[in-house]
Amino acid sequence: MAERTLCIIKPDAVKKNVQGSIIQKILDSGFKMKGMRMAQLSEREAGLFYEIHRERPFYKELVSFMTSGPVVVIALEKENAVADYRTLIGATDPAEAAEGTIRKLFASSKGENAVHGSDSVENGMNEVAFFFRESELA
Ligand code: ADP
Ligand code: MG
Repeated sequence: MAERTLCIIKPDAVKKNVQGSIIQKILDSGFKMKGMRMAQLSEREAGLFYEIHRERPFYKELVSFMTSGPVVVIALEKENAVADYRTLIGATDPAEAAEGTIRKLFASSKGENAVHGSDSVENGMNEVAFFFRESELA
């Protein structure tokens, strides 16, 4: 099976109506969309998803932001999906993101940074499974 990674189009990007442009960039970069849906994350879900950041100073702000409006969750597949998608989205802080990356183009700040991306092959698998049953993936 090809590598998997999870994209979340975050509430800031959905509010700006740039979901379509973000999805097009992802498709143009050779990723296969295996699953996609809109979601309104609950505090419990967002808190659990970002569990590894629980002790970080920005944790509460992050959970509050991620539950502030609808998101789009997308399961992606491709060879080398995790690293290639991280390259496509750019650095966490849009001020440090490379030209042409999704965060450079669409993010507002280090917190409100348009998209999520998995950070390891193992987390890519786990994060896709967090949002999608295997039977929901095309
Ligand atoms: P990435 O999303 O690039 O993997 P991290 O895993 O370090 O970044 O952080 C998870 C998310 O938490 C970021 O995408 C961002 O939304 C938020 N975040 C990270 N650092 C900060 C910060 N210093 N202040 C506010 N929010 C932050
Ligand atoms: Mg991360």
